[in-house]
Amino acid sequence: MVCISCNRAKQEKFESTKSSSEMAFSKGDKVTNDNFIGTVWLNYLVETDTAHNVIIGSVTFEPGARTNWHYHKGGQILLVTQGQGLYQEKGKPIEIIEKGAVVKCPANIEHWHGATPTESMTHIAIGTNTNIGGAIWLDPVTEDEYNNVSKQ
Ligand code: MN
Repeated sequence: MVCISCNRAKQEKFESTKSSSEMAFSKGDKVTNDNFIGTVWLNYLVETDTAHNVIIGSVTFEPGARTNWHYHKGGQILLVTQGQGLYQEKGKPIEIIEKGAVVKCPANIEHWHGATPTESMTHIAIGTNTNIGGAIWLDPVTEDEYNNVSKQ
């Protein structure tokens, strides 16, 4: 008798090992500025230029790490490539974002993004319309604001 569920479990284990060890982009360098809390890695993939007006980077947040509150004058798009994270626009509930999620951050809307307290998260961050302007950094996301996810 063949145990189909056993084979499926083995297959899923193989797939998850494969995906975590074969990230498309390396995590880059540790971020050392004050615009983030916790351990964050950044790999710039595309620097902005006047032909494209975008800036693209792969950002990896270790558990508990997140951006400060901020907004983008030209907007931003996030493509989650690994793990589970959080996204919140000011005045709205915290959203859980997972591998495969596409998040549009509208221009000039205050928000933050990062990992969950227990899982890391990697996203490709695409800064759009860089000819209009880049990120404007604000206050850190406090522990109370960050932990508010569990109360919703
Ligand atoms: Mn953002």
